[in-house]
Amino acid sequence: MVPILLLGVPGAGKGTQAKRLVLRYNIPHLSTGDMFREMANSGSPLGVQVLADMRAGNLVSDATVCELVALRLQREDCRQGYILDGFPRTLAQAQWLQGFWASSLPLGGNPIVIYLTVGYNDLYRRLLGRRSCSQCGRIYNEFTQPPRQAGLCDLDQTPLVQRKDDDPAVIRERLSAYEEQTLPLVEFFRKQARLLEVSGTEPVDRVSEKIFATIENAGRENASRANAKGEPA
Ligand code: AMP
Repeated sequence: MVPILLLGVPGAGKGTQAKRLVLRYNIPHLSTGDMFREMANSGSPLGVQVLADMRAGNLVSDATVCELVALRLQREDCRQGYILDGFPRTLAQAQWLQGFWASSLPLGGNPIVIYLTVGYNDLYRRLLGRRSCSQCGRIYNEFTQPPRQAGLCDLDQTPLVQRKDDDPAVIRERLSAYEEQTLPLVEFFRKQARLLEVSGTEPVDRVSEKIFATIENAGRENASRANAKGEPA
C-alpha cells in the first residue's frame, strides 16, 4: 500500500473519507488536527501555544508539525501504508514530505494524493453544521447528515460535540490560511505525484468509490511495474 494523502479545504470531507479508508485498507489515519487537539488538551507549554494557534485559526509552525509527523511515521504501523489528513498544509511541509518519501519509499511506490474540492458557499454550512461523536469519532452534519436522534451519535448514543474552531470568525481565518498557504500545494502535487481531483459535494459513498478505484488501480500498476523489474511490490 502506498501512502495516501488527503488534500482539500477544511470541511471538504477529508476526515469522513479517511475513516472509510481506514475500514477498507486497515492502515492508520494520521490527522495532524487530531494530534494537535490532543496536544492542546495536555496543558504542556507546547500544547498552550498550539491551542492559541488553533483558536485563532492560524497554522501551527512548520517545525512543530514536521517533527510530530516524523515521529509518527517512524512507528511500526506505518510500514504498510498510512493516510495523511491535514498534512502538509504549507510548501515547506510539502517539501519536507517529498524528501521523506524519497528516502523511505521503494522506487515506483508513488504516493496517491486525493484532492477534495468544495465550493465556498457549501463550506460555511458544512463547517457550521459539523458535529462529531466524542466517543467513536463519527462525523455528522446538522444540515446535510443529521443523526437519527438530534444531538446523539447513531452508533453509541453519546452526545455530539462541535469543534471550537468551527465558529464563524475562526472559520474565516482558517479559510484564508488555506487559500494562502495550502492551495498552492495542489499544483505542487499535480507535478510531483499521482493526483486525483474529486468533487466533495457528490454523495459521500460516490466520493469513496472514486477514491477506492483510484487507489486500487494504482496498486495494480505498482505491482505490475515491480513484477516486471523482479522487485517486491
Ligand atoms: P484540522 O482538524 O485539520 O482542520 O486542523 C485544526 C487546526 O490544527 C488547524 O486550523 C491548525 O491550527 C492546526 N493544524 C492541523 N494540521 C496542521 C498543519 N499541517 N500545519 C499547521 N497547522 C496545522
